[in-house]
Amino acid sequence: MKAQPKASHHINGRYVDDEQGTALPVTYPATGEVIASLHSATRNIIELAIEAARAAQPAWARLKPVERGRILRRAADILRARNEELARLETLDTGKPMQETLVADAPSAADCLEYLGGAVAAFNGEFVDLGGPFAYTRREALGVCVGIGAWNYPIQIAGWKSAPALAMGNAMVFKPSENTPLSALALAEIYTEAGLPDGLFNVVQGYGDVGAALVEHEVTAKVSVTGSVPTGRRVLALAGSKMKHATMELGGKSPLIVFDDADIENAIGGAMLGNFYSAGQVCSNGTRVFVQKGIHDRFVERLVERVKKIRLGDPLAPDTQMGPLVNKAQHDKVVSYIGIGLEEGATLACGGGVPSLQGFEGGFFVEPTVFTGVTDSMRIAREEIFGPVMSVLSFDHEDEVIERANATEFGLAAGVFTRDLPRAHRVISELQAGTCWINAYNLTPVEIPFGGTKQSGIGRENSLAALEHYSQIKTVYVETGDVASPIEQRPRCNPDRRSGR
Ligand code: NDP
Repeated sequence: MKAQPKASHHINGRYVDDEQGTALPVTYPATGEVIASLHSATRNIIELAIEAARAAQPAWARLKPVERGRILRRAADILRARNEELARLETLDTGKPMQETLVADAPSAADCLEYLGGAVAAFNGEFVDLGGPFAYTRREALGVCVGIGAWNYPIQIAGWKSAPALAMGNAMVFKPSENTPLSALALAEIYTEAGLPDGLFNVVQGYGDVGAALVEHEVTAKVSVTGSVPTGRRVLALAGSKMKHATMELGGKSPLIVFDDADIENAIGGAMLGNFYSAGQVCSNGTRVFVQKGIHDRFVERLVERVKKIRLGDPLAPDTQMGPLVNKAQHDKVVSYIGIGLEEGATLACGGGVPSLQGFEGGFFVEPTVFTGVTDSMRIAREEIFGPVMSVLSFDHEDEVIERANATEFGLAAGVFTRDLPRAHRVISELQAGTCWINAYNLTPVEIPFGGTKQSGIGRENSLAALEHYSQIKTVYVETGDVASPIEQRPRCNPDRRSGR
């Protein structure tokens, strides 16, 4: 199996390489075989990419928003037309089953390009009536933005970052996770085919040091990272030291609360979606499933029945429902957390093993795992595992569960299942999380903002909020009368109109 791109990086509309860069092998997580060999960006490659972006950006920012949007919408059409091929590439890169990559990866990037490509023309500044004089605000581009991606949704992340950046007139240099470098290159090709001028979307490969060099670069105006909390803290500190804009989409340990009166099958569906999709490698997963005592045993029984039916196997086969983890390190981390759960005294309700799958002996598979009897202090209930491991905790009362759900440093997402809608809204209003669901879980259509609170991040992706985060406001005050200088005479103008400082 091979998925070798023409070269490692895509800069200024074309593929380039520098073989001096550290080797970056790409493995297919289902078998462990090397499917491509790339190079991490050298200083020379980083400079080429930043310079291409810097040179191309001003002319792009001067275009009418509707013209920029038209190119994004054309790119969305190409993404959709090439969906099958992109899904296969994403499956090879991530190990996620085709069942997922056909519907959740390039299609989500396409949705974002289409939505923001259309919305940007209506995203304007404000007019402010000052009783004679007036003011207006302009939403202006920031300049060169750096996007840094995680491995779980490579093309989706590249789309979610580049679409608002480009729509607002910025240029982007994007560094994918070194685990999944391939589909961002395909996106760069697609942008070029859609008519995006050279230099506006550049992809450079590399490890964390390349990300840090891009963030630190004096030309970089903004950085947007999807990754873990420790990485986010490092990048934010670096960006902050140079007063750069930053969006951080980081990790979580989100609560999913199931009340006694919930539709049990729907709640189980939500919990499974929120723990086992993408083999559990989803930042917003509801990995702490709080189930009210009255429904707890029935919930666990049906949950286990349904989880046992999840089909693991060949990610390219159409009926496979769960694939492997992205690499050996992540596999070993998840397996070690299962051991920690057992040592801490949690009850293994199902899974917990490493399956032996014929033809995929070198793959990084872990069975979908459910722990019950989990308590708040256990590490499996406090730390982000980023794998298919669900912790079920029981609770008695609404106030109690709110307090326990909020007792975490994270604040990315939360969900509530109940038929009592006033209670659903009441509980959601008390939960410390940026993205919440009522009687659903992990749905993230591009029309709504996505992002976290507390240690889970700063800023939002998707929706019009994303356009705000890729632009800055310029305020313009316009005088329509005479200019009175208070230094020379008593002011004739209303003192309110003088500087407010
Ligand atoms: P990491 O934090 O390890 O890496 C994220 C990206 O940052 C990678 O491209 C990485 O490069 C890069 N990086 C690492 N160190 C630095 C640095 N010092 N400066 C700049 N860039 C750096 O995350 P993972 O790739 O392991 O992804 C999993 C994490 O991402 C989980 O915590 C998950 O919750 C979170 N996530 C959050 C989402 C959200 O929207 N909130 C969505 C998806 C995932 P390299 O890969 O080479 O180390």
